[in-house]
Amino acid sequence: MRFLNYFLPVLKASPKEAEISSHSLMLRAALIRQQSSGIYSWLPLGKRVLDKLCKLVREEQNRAGAIEILMPTIQPASLWRESGRYDSYGKEMLRIQDRQNRDMLYGPTNEELVTDIVRSYVRSHKDLPLNLYQIQWKFRDEIRPRFGIMRAREFLMKDAYSFDCDSAGARASYNRMFVAYLRVFARIGLVAIPISADSGPIGGDMSHEFIILSQVGESSVVCDQKYFDMRIPSAEIDFSDKKKIASIVCEWTDPYAATEDMHPEALADLSARNRISARGIEVGHLFSFGTKYSNPMCARFIGIDGKNYPFFMGSYGMGLSRLVGAVVESSHDKKGIIWPKAIAPFDVGIINLKPGDVLCDRFADSCYQQLENAGIDCLLDDRNEQSGSKFATMDLIGLPLQIIIGPRNVLKGEIEIKDRKNNQGEVFSLDAMINRVTAKQ
Ligand code: ATP
Ligand code: MG
Repeated sequence: MRFLNYFLPVLKASPKEAEISSHSLMLRAALIRQQSSGIYSWLPLGKRVLDKLCKLVREEQNRAGAIEILMPTIQPASLWRESGRYDSYGKEMLRIQDRQNRDMLYGPTNEELVTDIVRSYVRSHKDLPLNLYQIQWKFRDEIRPRFGIMRAREFLMKDAYSFDCDSAGARASYNRMFVAYLRVFARIGLVAIPISADSGPIGGDMSHEFIILSQVGESSVVCDQKYFDMRIPSAEIDFSDKKKIASIVCEWTDPYAATEDMHPEALADLSARNRISARGIEVGHLFSFGTKYSNPMCARFIGIDGKNYPFFMGSYGMGLSRLVGAVVESSHDKKGIIWPKAIAPFDVGIINLKPGDVLCDRFADSCYQQLENAGIDCLLDDRNEQSGSKFATMDLIGLPLQIIIGPRNVLKGEIEIKDRKNNQGEVFSLDAMINRVTAKQ
């Protein structure tokens, strides 16, 4: 992409409404724009990040055996009346009436809708287990939307729903999602701590929140620092090996982790040396709730013994738009964002310091073409702007690698590569640079 053909309206100053760094940086780097309280547009650069994250999340959901669907954002209230949640869900639910005066709502979550799909088609234990997921916008009329897309009203969620014959099957489905989550967070450079969560009135012991440590988080967390040295399961992991998957979950739930309000008495167990007390951002939530929805909604299958049983279910949410904020919050410096390669909007930013100069243009174009041909996404800054402003923009938008093409270097046949993370520059010939960058990707 050439900057002159792109739409990247970066801002020089930090907007007043931004209270935390990630919010300010996301507005300044023109990733998002607020349209109303807690409601955002995703501008081209932000859309690229979101798309890359969605692709990565799909890879891991599919690997774990989940199957993608897409459910509507607008749902009929009748399904929520069946489960009993239409009345119990509070003001966070946006309720609407259509022109026939039918009660509708903008989905804050999708348990009812997916249960309706499965009860309509799945009759037999032979069709189980089944895990259906989607990536879809949700609306919750949050009392206090804040921190940009971190606590928004409209936000993008990956939500998966598992259906099993019994609680042992449901546990295995839960474990698969647990391991898939570990891989997603690791691939975007985050350590997420799985914290056993309060399963509230539903009961049961299977609920974990995944929390990223961050000063601006809304939860208080106490955990063992061991979490920061633990190994992530590889992409070759066999998700059909129930024992292996269960052992990974055991390993990851063994070190101590709790929200401060839940287990203050257990803190004594954790020696001060290993203890981390911090604030954290909830980026995902796993939940196994048995027959809570299948029972009232009469979602049943015929078991191996010919009798009728309600499905054993679980649901697994991941806040994708919030995750983008969490990544920016945990990976930035004074100058701007530092994207992990996996979700960077472009892999490489090329700065042509002197557009119009024959040699600079030739080097910039050749560099751009060769990298694009090698499958590397480039943003070429070909604007007629001051060098300082170009450097500042490139640092702000945080692409992992910068290639700087200046009139003095090109006379010697050289260009500079700068690593955004450590600010280290190195000078190469054009060919050596192309080899170097393509090898790194
Ligand atoms: P929170 O405690 O932050 O309000 P929640 O427990 O109500 O979240 P879940 O129902 O567990 O949220 O939703 C799954 C995931 O969706 C959460 O883990 C979080 O990452 C994301 N999420 C929830 N609410 C919001 C929001 N208002 N804005 C952005 N992401 C959200
Ligand atoms: Mg939650």
